[in-house]
Amino acid sequence: MRRLEGKRIVVASHNKGKLAEIAELIGPFGLEAKSAAEYGLAEPPEDGTTFEENAYTKAFTAAKATGLPALSDDSGLVVDALGGAPGVYTADWAAKDDGTRDFQMAMRKVEDLLQEKGATTPEERTGRFVAVLCLAWPDGHAEYFRGEVEGTLVWPARGDRGFGYDPVFKPDGYEETFGEMPASQKHSWEAGRGDLGLSHRARAFALFARAMLGAA
Ligand code: IMP
Repeated sequence: MRRLEGKRIVVASHNKGKLAEIAELIGPFGLEAKSAAEYGLAEPPEDGTTFEENAYTKAFTAAKATGLPALSDDSGLVVDALGGAPGVYTADWAAKDDGTRDFQMAMRKVEDLLQEKGATTPEERTGRFVAVLCLAWPDGHAEYFRGEVEGTLVWPARGDRGFGYDPVFKPDGYEETFGEMPASQKHSWEAGRGDLGLSHRARAFALFARAMLGAA
């Protein structure tokens, strides 16, 4: 596995919710991270069929353009009763005709489809958030870190914290949805704590930090 030399990286995301979480997660390591937007880079089209493919496209595009290692996150919600949907299309399900995103609409779409399938009990409403981090270098080399968190889709949506589909996702072992938890609990991973944390992104970051930054 190739190690990260130096402290400067580009965070290849334009999603404000993700950028804020990534900044919190890598802050303790003293990495100097600027976003792709700060470099004036456009967002490449995400046309892959796996989280890994999309993460690579974003990271490699930013690495090539800046000459620095670039870190991307491709993530989404995988619902078992829906055959894995929305999966890599999780963001697209929130897309409106005017180019903005409406997650109330997206969460309702998931719920309507679950109702169509007759999925009413928690056992029938299982799913997971998946996050794949890709660290790509300008020469095309890449390393991947995948984090997942299992849970249940609840309805109605609960809580106004977090972002995206957080209000309908209740992680296993908790009564609250991600939308009801403080960010610190959703991430619940700190360098050196020993476990991998709660959220898919925290888990992927824990793996990244252990492998690349020498975290415990
Ligand atoms: P992408 O990785 O930019 O393709 O977008 C993934 C989509 O998944 C986001 O737009 C969010 O709606 C959703 N998503 C990813 N991670 C989370 C999370 O931690 N909470 C809620 N929604 C998430």
